[in-house]
Amino acid sequence: VVDGGDPMMLGERPPDGDPNVPAFKIAMLGASGVGKTTLTYQFTTSDYICAYDLSLDDDYGQKKVSVLLDNIETDLEIIDHPASEMSTEAFCATYNIDLFVVVYSVVDRKTFKEAERVLQYLKENEMLLSRGAILVGNKTDLERHRVVNQYMGRYVATQIACKFIETSSGLHHNVDELLVGIVAQVKLNPQRLRR
Ligand code: GDP
Repeated sequence: VVDGGDPMMLGERPPDGDPNVPAFKIAMLGASGVGKTTLTYQFTTSDYICAYDLSLDDDYGQKKVSVLLDNIETDLEIIDHPASEMSTEAFCATYNIDLFVVVYSVVDRKTFKEAERVLQYLKENEMLLSRGAILVGNKTDLERHRVVNQYMGRYVATQIACKFIETSSGLHHNVDELLVGIVAQVKLNPQRLRR
């Protein structure tokens, strides 16, 4: 194969990171348009905890970042769920995920309902027994148009027993804190290291 996908090139890719560095798969779930791609992109530009982008190819909505937090390196493979192309159920069955980040927009009630549905699905299918989840209310910069208040988000997170944070990728508010929270959550599961 010469043109197009060129699968022969795959053999020339460098080894998949350092086998001594723990690696985790993070799923970005939630309705279309809530800011999953924007948040994922911003993780790679975080200067607060020294994250850098290891991705060779992010065409498929996957980004690899290496995060140095408290002098400990962790690789994260962040997989953006293409909500319009694949159901949450099919997505979760396809990838062996370590942590679910479920995002909604605080200015769109439908996306909040969808986030609630996704979390319920994960809980009912026992996918949260050995994995964590973080509920994220994004777009807090659009305060004047807010329809989902912080208490509603916190209430749902409490019901599911997951973490909760509000962010604005527009203003880069709490994005680093979310990344720190992701690393902290996956480290609660240290047995699931690089496969
Ligand atoms: P995705 O479909 O969930 O991946 O959403 P995107 O990351 O593609 O974002 C959808 C739209 O929302 C884009 O136009 C973004 O620029 C915008 N957006 C994302 N995050 C924010 C935010 O925090 N505030 C505002 N005002 N817009 C945002």
